[in-house]
Order: sequence, then C-alpha cells, then structure tokens
Amino acid sequence: MTFDPVYERNKATDWRLLFGIPVTRNNAVRGAIVFGVSQKFVQDYMRATTMSDGIHALVDARGTLIASSENTFTVTKGSWLKTLPKPWSDLSLSTLFKTGSGLSSASEDFLLYRKLQSADLMLIEYVPARNLFLSVVGQFSPPFVAVWLLLGFLLWVTLLVVDQLLAGQMALSAQLRELARVDPLTNLANRRRLEADFGILTQGRYIDRRLSLLMIDIDHFKRVNDTWGHKAGDEVLKHLARVTSAAVRPQDLVARFGGEEFCILLPDMSLNEAAEIAERVRLAIAETVCLPPQTILPDSAPGREIRFTVSIGVAELVSDKCHDLEALVAVADRRLYAAKARGRNKVVADESIEVGSQRG
Ligand code: GH3
Ligand code: MG
Ligand code: MG
Repeated sequence: MTFDPVYERNKATDWRLLFGIPVTRNNAVRGAIVFGVSQKFVQDYMRATTMSDGIHALVDARGTLIASSENTFTVTKGSWLKTLPKPWSDLSLSTLFKTGSGLSSASEDFLLYRKLQSADLMLIEYVPARNLFLSVVGQFSPPFVAVWLLLGFLLWVTLLVVDQLLAGQMALSAQLRELARVDPLTNLANRRRLEADFGILTQGRYIDRRLSLLMIDIDHFKRVNDTWGHKAGDEVLKHLARVTSAAVRPQDLVARFGGEEFCILLPDMSLNEAAEIAERVRLAIAETVCLPPQTILPDSAPGREIRFTVSIGVAELVSDKCHDLEALVAVADRRLYAAKARGRNKVVADESIEVGSQRG
C-alpha cells in the first residue's frame, strides 16, 4: 500500500486544502481517502504559533503560497520566496526541498524550513534578528524569569559583599602594617619604621644636609628589673619613651631599637647639635622619676620611686662618612659603649671628647 498525498485548492471564495491518499490493493487503485482543511483554520494556527514580525508560510514545490501567518494573505505569482528581502529572495526552492530541513542565516536574520512528511509542502519561517531576543525571552515562563532575576540579584549582592570584605581586608592589612611599625609597649616607632624613615630621609639627599642619630641605652637596667620587678621595668621603658619624645622636635623620630635600647633620628642636625640634644635627653631622664603603680611592685621593692640614667652615643651620616643606617648605628653604638666605659650616664659624640658628665 502506498500513500501519495495530493492537495488542491477549490473555489476562490471558500479555499480549502484537499489532501487525498490513494488506496491500492494488489497493485490496483481501489479508491482514495480525501480530506479537506479550511485554509482559514491553517492560517489561524500559523498566526498563533508565529512570533510577531516573523512570517510563517506554507508553500508547495513551485513556491506557491498555500497558507501564511500574515494577516494580508495574497496569492503570489511565482515563488513566495521572491517576496522576502535579499538574500532570501535569491534562494533556490528546489535546493531547500532537496535538503528537507534546515536553518539559514544572513545579516543576523534567520530562515527555518522543513518539508512536510509525505507531501510536497514546505513550512518556512522567517525570523528577523531584532525580534529574536524578545522572542526567546518571551518563551520563558514568569517563574523562570523571576528565578533568573533573583539569581542576578544574589550575584550582585555577593559581589557587593566580596567588595566590602576586600575593602575591610585592605583596611585591616593597612592596620597590621601600621602595627608592624609601632612598638606595642611604648607606642614608639619600631626598628622597621626607623629603617623606612631613614630610607625616605636619605633619598635624593644633598651632601650638605645632615642626619644625626642618637643611640640610647638604660644604665644597669637589669638591676631595675631585679629590684622592682619586670613589670616595673616595663613602666621604666614607657617613662623613657615619654620623656625622650617630649625632649625632641616633631620632625625627629624616636624609636625603640630593641630591649632597653632606643634611637632618635634627627634630620638636618649636625653632630654637635645632636650632641646637645643628647645631653638634653640624658639630663631629662636623670632628673625625672618613674612612679610605677604600687600594685605591680613586689613587697621587696625599696619604694615606688625609680631613678635611672641612660648612656648615649651620637653619630652623623656625613661627618662620620656613613653610607647607610647600619654604618650610622654602628658608629653610634661604638660611642654608646664608650659612654658606658666612661662610667655611664654620659653622652659621647666623639671618642676623644667627653660631652656630658655624671649628674643626678
Ligand atoms: P648596662 O648599663 O651595661 O646597659 O647594663 P644593663 O643591665 O642595662 O644591660 P643588660 O644588657 O645586661 O640588660 C638589659 C636588660 O634589659 C636585660 C633584659 O631582661 C632587660 N629587658 C630587655 N627588654 C625588656 C623589656 O621589654 N622589659 C623589661 N622589663 N626588661 C627588658
Ligand atoms: Mg643594652
Ligand atoms: Mg642597658
């Protein structure tokens, strides 16, 4: 049995598509099953299933338009494809029929075509690009769009949170960097800050500009710890920080070099001027008293008042022919130990001259 459908239009007033299937038995035609579909029915269906601005057309092998989604349906002479804009109007209909089905695109517009099974008819859909996006979005159900928007919102919130976390992290690391340059006990600059400031001060420096350094060490500090306890020793270190900071200019940098050793960086100060400052610091320390809270003192403490002295070595970058901080510290350290050797509570700026003398 073979099925070879035929179709035909009847009168112009009431167009119907007639489909016939011949019925054969023992190779002899016994009759035909014929059914008709109103063209209006087909067109309504095509309109309902076509995106706005797109065109859905049913054509036969000659290109004759049989039904279309367009409201203004007119019978075309020749192939319906010729009514489409270029390059679609140049397409060969027989090639489309041979291919059977496919998608063709040009200047971002699309042409979809599919030959109907068992009939020499072809469904062609022309989709202009400008409608494609809206058409695709239009296919999504409202819940899908809602979820899509929610996900977009969540992504935006996540990015915002990550951004704030990063900002917080950066602020924290800036604080940590700052912490790394401050001595937590005395709140003075630490050695790292001293090195950084020295680098900044010596950058592009003229040879006639001076930079001096004082190296300060507490005399017999071990005894302070032994007599008043380690906590009282800490109070002495804080007291020294306060007194020295008050004795210098705002542009000078007082730093805790380590343990009970302190440094003061004095920009634009000659060795002699720095020695005078050192003497002022030495006297200020020797003439003041540290009074730690009674509660931290051991019973064995001889009293609340702690008097102590410091020894100071002075060096200057240019006159001492130093090229870096290490060399400057080494010269100041050498003079500090000369001060210790001369009996402590002294300032030494030149190993051959004694600037300060024991007092207090
Ligand atoms: P010199 O006059 O020769 O400098 O004698 P000194 O006793 O000061 O010198 P030494 O280097 O023998 O002792 C330094 C002491 O400083 C030893 C150490 O326990 C104490 N020290 C270092 N850092 C701290 C601190 O942060 N707090 C306290 N309380 N003591 C400290
Ligand atoms: Mg020491
Ligand atoms: Mg000491």
